[in-house]
Amino acid sequence: MSDKYLELANSTLGKAVFAAVGLPDPVPLQREDPNQPHQLRGQVLLGASDGAIFAETIGSFITIAGAEVCRDAMQDTGQLLFDASGIANAQQSDQLYRFFNQHIRSIAHSGRVIVVGCKPSALDDAEYAAVQRGLLGFVKSLAKEIGRKGATANLVLVDKGGDQALEGPIRFLLSAGSAFMNAQVLTVATPVASMEADWTAPLTGKTVLVTGAARGIGLAISQTLARDGAKVIGVDVPQSQNELDAQMVAIGGLSLPLDITDTDAPQRLRDFCLAHSPILHAIVHNAGVTRDKMLSKMTSHQWDLLVQINLGALQRINQALLDTKLLDNGGRIVGVASISGIAGNVGQTNYAFSKAAVIGVVESLADSCAARGITINGVAPGFIETQMTAAIPFITRQMGRRLSSLGQGGLPVDVAEVIGFYLSPQAAGINGNMVRVCGQSLLGA
Ligand code: NAD
Repeated sequence: MSDKYLELANSTLGKAVFAAVGLPDPVPLQREDPNQPHQLRGQVLLGASDGAIFAETIGSFITIAGAEVCRDAMQDTGQLLFDASGIANAQQSDQLYRFFNQHIRSIAHSGRVIVVGCKPSALDDAEYAAVQRGLLGFVKSLAKEIGRKGATANLVLVDKGGDQALEGPIRFLLSAGSAFMNAQVLTVATPVASMEADWTAPLTGKTVLVTGAARGIGLAISQTLARDGAKVIGVDVPQSQNELDAQMVAIGGLSLPLDITDTDAPQRLRDFCLAHSPILHAIVHNAGVTRDKMLSKMTSHQWDLLVQINLGALQRINQALLDTKLLDNGGRIVGVASISGIAGNVGQTNYAFSKAAVIGVVESLADSCAARGITINGVAPGFIETQMTAAIPFITRQMGRRLSSLGQGGLPVDVAEVIGFYLSPQAAGINGNMVRVCGQSLLGA
């Protein structure tokens, strides 16, 4: 699933032609080094508003992680982090303006902007809450200004108790793993479980279950989680067993051929997990299908089949797992939604319904999961280069790729890295989040 336009724009001849004609020229994104993932490099310019709450702690853990913290100006690769948590009224917002006005030009290719603020609804002071809410508009606009460099901007909002769990999200956003996550918010709250783990192999010794693991995004998720030390149980339809077996053998995982909509699927899945491990660290509900048709032409079969795979099976499997204590005290649930579930899409009433409902699953279970030491989060991928998107007609496919701030589609690994972060013990303060992995697609933004 190669993107010829991106390749051409970055060839020697293409660069000259694209510049002469004025065509958009997206840059290839930097991604994790498979042999040395989760390493931070380069310089981070750290700024803070007056009265900022988190900057000092952030500075110390960035240094420990291996990046150089600068306070005034950078000479080298630029990543910018600004703690705006002290901005409590409109006048003080000029501190945000001045920091970025002065330094944004030094942002590197594939650089990062991170703004840290307080969750507005957790603040008692209305004026303070309003300006903290303003940070989102700022970040979304800045992301649009720097996207042509392959750089991203994201916002971290600290809820009550979230200061204890800030290191995970900041390190993830500074890493190459967040390459295609752009203009998003991560809300961090009191961790629901222990955060102790190795930063380079955070899932060592943990068993995780991934549905739809034979190919596409599910395969990338399985490979990424295995890279991080996990034992993966990959589930896919029996027709894909050969593919699934080969992929699981390659990553030292186990395969479970199973149609997740079968009546006994939740039970079989739970029994299989219990037979291999007394604890299941995570389930990633990735299996999903499209059955596109204008609503007036959609058959009830196209509706029912899709809703059962994308939503019904996910809910039944969650219920079966939550009826046990398999996930308690540190477990993770992740739902794979879609930006279609946020923006809606012509010919996708069934798909958008199911994916919006996946967002609903995350929102409605977050509190009860937290009470059991489990987090539940979701990703909403945008245009990702897979067999699913390769089947989209040429013009629509090109538009899907180009209509984002980064000017390109994402790779399956981009979704996988966000999920890997959710599953890491260091993300124990991230619960009920839904992050778009779409390079700031203009669809529904
Ligand atoms: P894909 O079609 O390449 O892979 C989906 C996998 O799910 C396949 O291996 C398939 O066999 C499996 N599957 C389907 N029905 C199943 C069932 N009943 N039981 C078990 N396994 C089943 O799709 P993909 O592009 O890799 O998408 C993965 C997920 O990401 C889906 O939920 C999809 O809706 C979502 N998504 C994808 C994109 C994209 O651009 N590719 C965008 C947004 C959301």
